[in-house]
Amino acid sequence: MAEANAAGERGEAVVFGAPLIEQASIDEVVDTLRSGWIGAGPRVARFEQMLEAYLDVPHVVCVASGTAALYLALRCVDVGPGDEVLLPTMTFVACAQAIELTGATPVVVDSEADTNLISLELAERAITQRTRAILVVHLAGRPVDLRRLRRLSDERGLAVIEDATHALGARFDGRTIGSSENLTVFSFNPQKNITSIDGGAIATRDETVAARARQMARHGVDLSSWERYRDGRPGKYEVTSPGFKFGMTDVQAAVALHQLPRLDGWIASRARQWHAYDSALADLPVRTPAPTTGRMRHARHLYQVMVEDSSPLGRDELIASLQARNIGTGVHYRAIHLHSYFRDRYGLEPADFPVATEASARLMSLPIGPSLSGAGQARVIDALHTLLAGR
Ligand SMILES: *Cc1c(COP(=O)(O)O)cnc(C)c1O
Repeated sequence: MAEANAAGERGEAVVFGAPLIEQASIDEVVDTLRSGWIGAGPRVARFEQMLEAYLDVPHVVCVASGTAALYLALRCVDVGPGDEVLLPTMTFVACAQAIELTGATPVVVDSEADTNLISLELAERAITQRTRAILVVHLAGRPVDLRRLRRLSDERGLAVIEDATHALGARFDGRTIGSSENLTVFSFNPQKNITSIDGGAIATRDETVAARARQMARHGVDLSSWERYRDGRPGKYEVTSPGFKFGMTDVQAAVALHQLPRLDGWIASRARQWHAYDSALADLPVRTPAPTTGRMRHARHLYQVMVEDSSPLGRDELIASLQARNIGTGVHYRAIHLHSYFRDRYGLEPADFPVATEASARLMSLPIGPSLSGAGQARVIDALHTLLAGR
C-alpha cells in the first residue's frame, strides 16, 4: 500500500548515522599520507592531548576501536577468568564480547523502563561472590546516574567501567563523562558523535593504568625501552606484559583532529533536531525520549522512539516503510540476551529481561546529526505523519 506510491515520495536519501567529513579532515589526511609518518605518531599524540583537555582528564590512550578500548579497560582493572562482570543487556554486543575475551563471564541486567539505561537496582541484585566489575553504558548519550553507581561500587567493592561510546560531550553533575575516577571508554567509529573512521580511547585519572593500557596496546613492549629503540638503538625493546596490536594510526587521528573542535556545535545542533522531533512527533503513537534532568548534559547521540501498541504499523514495518521512502533508521539494540549465541550459552530467557525484551521489539533510532539537513529532517517527520497518522 504505502510502498506502491512510495517512488514518487523518494526524495534525496536520508542516510542514518552518516558522518560529516569536512575539508580540514581531508587536507589533514592528505598531509599525513605525504608526511611519511602514517602509523602511530605525532597526530595520535595531538589527538590524545586534545581529548585530555576536552574531557578534563589527565590521561587518554587512543586505540584501534571502542571494542579494543573496552577489552583493555577490563584488563586494566584485572578482570579475568572466574570473574563475573555486570552489564546492561540493552547495549551493543561488543560489551559482552570484550568481557568474554578476558575469560570472564558477562552477566546481563535489565533496563529502566523510562530511559532504557541499566537498572542499578537489578544490577545490585545480580551481584555474587564472583562479581568483580560493572560495565555501564551511557546509552544514546544519556548519562547513567554516576552518584548512585559510585555508592553501589563502593559498598560492594566493584570496579567500574563506563562505556561512553555514545556519550562523548555528555556531562553529569557538572563533570564531563570521562573525567570520573572510573575508566571510561570512547569510540570514534563512523556512526559515533565524532569519527576517526575507526578508533577508540580509554580515559583515566590513573597514570599507571594509562601506561599499562598503552603498553598492552603495543605488543606489551616496555615503553621506556621502546623510546630507546626509537632513538636509534634497535633490538633493545623489552616485552614485559601481555600484548596486542591495538594502536590508532596517524591517518585516523588526522580525521578526528578536525572533528573534536566541532563536537560542541554538533551536539547543540543535535539538540535542536531533538527538540524538533519531540514537538513534531508528540501526537503520533510513538513514545519520545524521556526528558533530561538538570544534572546532566545529554550527548544527543541517538534519538530513539518506542513504537506504541496503538500504532498502525509495527516497528519493523515502520522501518521498512521509511526505507522504501529512502529514509534510513537504526535499531539500538536487539538486547544481548536475545542473540542466539548469548541466549544459548548462558541459558537466558526473554521473560527474565522484560523491559529490554519489549524495547528490543519497539525501539527505533531516527536520523540525527550534523549531516542531516533541515529538509532531510522535515522529510522524516512528514513520512512519520503519513505512515502513523494516516494523513
Ligand atoms: C560503537 C559501540 C561500541 C564499540 O565501538 P567500536 O569502535 O565500533 O568498536 C561499544 N559499545 C557500544 C554501546 C557501542 O555503541
